[in-house]
Amino acid sequence: MKKLLLLVAAMSSTTPAAAATLSEAIHGDMPQLMTLYRELHANPELSMQEVRTPGKLAAEVRKLGFEVTEHVGKTGVVAVMRNGPGPVLLIRADMDALPVHEETGLPFASKAVGKLPDGTTTPVMHACGHDTHITTWLATARRLASMKDQWSGTVVMVLQPGEEVGLGATGMLADGLFTRFPKPDYLLAFHDSASLPAGVIGITPGYALANIDTVDLVVKGVGGHGAYPQTTKDPIVLASRIVMALQTLVSREKNPLDPAVVTVGSFHAGTKHNIIPAEAKLQLTVRSYTPEVRKLLLDGIQRIARGEAIAAGVPEDKMPMITVQQPAGNATFNTEQLSAHLTTLFSNHFGKDRVVESKPIMASEDFGEFWRADKTKQSTIFWVGGVPKAKWEAAGGDETKLPSLHSAFWAPEAETVISTATEAMTVAALDILKKS
Ligand SMILES: [Zn+2]
Ligand SMILES: [Zn+2]
Repeated sequence: MKKLLLLVAAMSSTTPAAAATLSEAIHGDMPQLMTLYRELHANPELSMQEVRTPGKLAAEVRKLGFEVTEHVGKTGVVAVMRNGPGPVLLIRADMDALPVHEETGLPFASKAVGKLPDGTTTPVMHACGHDTHITTWLATARRLASMKDQWSGTVVMVLQPGEEVGLGATGMLADGLFTRFPKPDYLLAFHDSASLPAGVIGITPGYALANIDTVDLVVKGVGGHGAYPQTTKDPIVLASRIVMALQTLVSREKNPLDPAVVTVGSFHAGTKHNIIPAEAKLQLTVRSYTPEVRKLLLDGIQRIARGEAIAAGVPEDKMPMITVQQPAGNATFNTEQLSAHLTTLFSNHFGKDRVVESKPIMASEDFGEFWRADKTKQSTIFWVGGVPKAKWEAAGGDETKLPSLHSAFWAPEAETVISTATEAMTVAALDILKKS
């Protein structure tokens, strides 16, 4: 705590010349970095199938003098630079792409195809912008390697697979990320943002992203002829009641000040107009921040499904079957101390107009798993806006009029995202690893 306060004081003395020099150095790297970015964008790889990307990046950081270990947690890369006494800082970038058919019209748009775990073929796109994360990761490694005389401590650069399927962070931890490599005191990451203009940094103190639970609900009934409902227990009517009643978990049962979402994203039943089927299948995504709200929602789904089945007269041996898929995703928490410190640091460096407090969101991210593995550490993931200024202004700053992350049309202003994020990461690292 003490150290961070001192660091805030020290930061305000950063000279404009030093800031200009860092910015100039990054801009000098940009042509080469943009070539890498376009190449990564054109060749995206699906979650837990990242092979080419980590291989290429591992070779690059090895050239910079990092100790590089590949295949950590299947396809992850850990690159360590030990540079004297001081704290250990982990900087993470996720590298997987999504099963999306790109429609940005960019000259380097992806034409890649991949195979999903069920064997189906799909187009693949970096629709979440993880290609900006990977490029920034290398750019930051370059800056830190070339500025070794300006910091002291250890940097652990982590290239993580499988963020989109929630398997990458836990996989790397299970493969000894915190035991085989220096254990971090500080954890940092960033994500490109479709909700901020290009070059603006957003920081959310506290809970930033949500718990995610994926729930399958099989609602059973008694099938029969559509003209003789009295001989059946109609699972479509019952499942419809369940869908409606589930919304009361959010609107009536939990504290209105605690965020939560219960979405039924899939409802499948039946084959033909005049047949009452024997079952209906529902697929739910359930979001929350705190463990208490998470429990309330999951217990409530169980109770409402069973209660509605009893009300419909379904026999005891045909009660709804509920499966909560494992592993579930956990909320990402930005520790107050580091997120507040970075807000001051970035405001001093970039100017107040380029740093905003972002609201927490109900999307999910597995970066928080690194902090959950040891909650005594300081951790922050921040946003770097990617919406081109002209598009942002044309939409009047209304993000609902713009493509979101995961959209086939999401084309961040990559050069601004990468240069801003690299500068922010480097400034944060130089500050955390300041020579005493
Ligand atoms: Zn994503
Ligand atoms: Zn993402």
